[in-house]
Amino acid sequence: MKILVINAGSSSLKYQLIDMETEQLMAKGLCERIGIDGHLKHSPLVGGKPVFDQDVPMPTHSEAIAAVIDKLTSAEYGVVSSMAEIDAVGHRVVHGGEKFASSVRIDDAVMAAIKECIPFAPLHNPANITGIEACRAVMGDVPMVAVFDTAFHQTMPGKAYMYALPYDYYAKDGIRRYGFHGTSHRYVSSRCAQLMGKPIEELKIISCHMGNGSSICAINGGKSVDTSMGFTPLVGLPMGTRCGDLDAGVIQFLMNKYGYNIDEVLNILNKKSGVLGVSGVSSDFRDLDNAAAEGNERAALALELFAYWVGKVVGSYVAAMNGVDAIIFTAGVGENSAAMRASIASYFGYLGVEIDPAANAKRGEDIMISTADSKVKVFVIPTNEELVIARDTCEIVG
Ligand code: AMP
Repeated sequence: MKILVINAGSSSLKYQLIDMETEQLMAKGLCERIGIDGHLKHSPLVGGKPVFDQDVPMPTHSEAIAAVIDKLTSAEYGVVSSMAEIDAVGHRVVHGGEKFASSVRIDDAVMAAIKECIPFAPLHNPANITGIEACRAVMGDVPMVAVFDTAFHQTMPGKAYMYALPYDYYAKDGIRRYGFHGTSHRYVSSRCAQLMGKPIEELKIISCHMGNGSSICAINGGKSVDTSMGFTPLVGLPMGTRCGDLDAGVIQFLMNKYGYNIDEVLNILNKKSGVLGVSGVSSDFRDLDNAAAEGNERAALALELFAYWVGKVVGSYVAAMNGVDAIIFTAGVGENSAAMRASIASYFGYLGVEIDPAANAKRGEDIMISTADSKVKVFVIPTNEELVIARDTCEIVG
């Protein structure tokens, strides 16, 4: 079975075609500037075909999907002979609210339910819906599945997901913590159990997804029991440009002092804060490493603050689960920055964690970076959300 995985943004669309018999990635690509002019970079990964990297008119997502199908099936750049070889499509959908605790086959009722979740993710869900609708228009009856970022966290108990606000805001309006990056936390935790050779049901795992957006998840017996993002992906850890946890009083202060409206404040909290805001240098941790090495104190502070928050949140999840067997680092920073991993691990001494510097220096593979006799094991596991989407799609479509 060959599955096309689609991750649609407002003006972009990422895709992968995966052969589920071998779980081999056959092709991947990115449509950009949809609705503006349009550009497609398509990389076939089997058959020695060349990369296509050119402007293609894309007034809407439909033309983008049509261009993707055209390239996937073309003689020059293609990896399948016709669209009939694509058995199903898996779509990443950011917010499934409380309606979706697992992936689901898309039909009209599911589309309506995803639309009902738009108020929870006003930027992301409409783009995901546009991607699904374009696919349905271009691909007709090919079965489609929605895989939600929030679904994995639907196992959180009330004490973890409730805000201490008047109850009606939860009951009537659905205001609660939802959490995100669920597909990534699910993938790395199940891979971690595999690497440890133990059933996930017997393990307490803390997974640290640290990229441009970052979140931590406490996974007890394979189920998410707490996570650091909340109603939106703004909170929890400080991130590339997002502030993370913040006293709501700061919002009022900024509005009063500078005359900002709420959109202006949220723009600051979402796009100008995090390690970018603190350092004044960059949201990219590589730039911060370089700046700190050259003596930039604010860049060093931003890196310290990030490591401190990860250490602190992991500690709170050790308490929440009354123990931990394994801690995982994943995503851009987690997979690539040995220095950041070592800095974070300095907060794990009380757990009896010992990092093996030689293992920690490696890159690009699933690896245990703690020593063999470390009481709590620490892993680096490159995330693969697309593979989870493809696996779920394959399973549901059968
Ligand atoms: P992601 O959102 O998972 O794609 O992660 C993107 C982020 O990973 C970038 O913004 C970088 O800050 C970070 N990153 C990638 N490579 C490295 C590296 N070698 N060292 C530190 N950070 C890195």
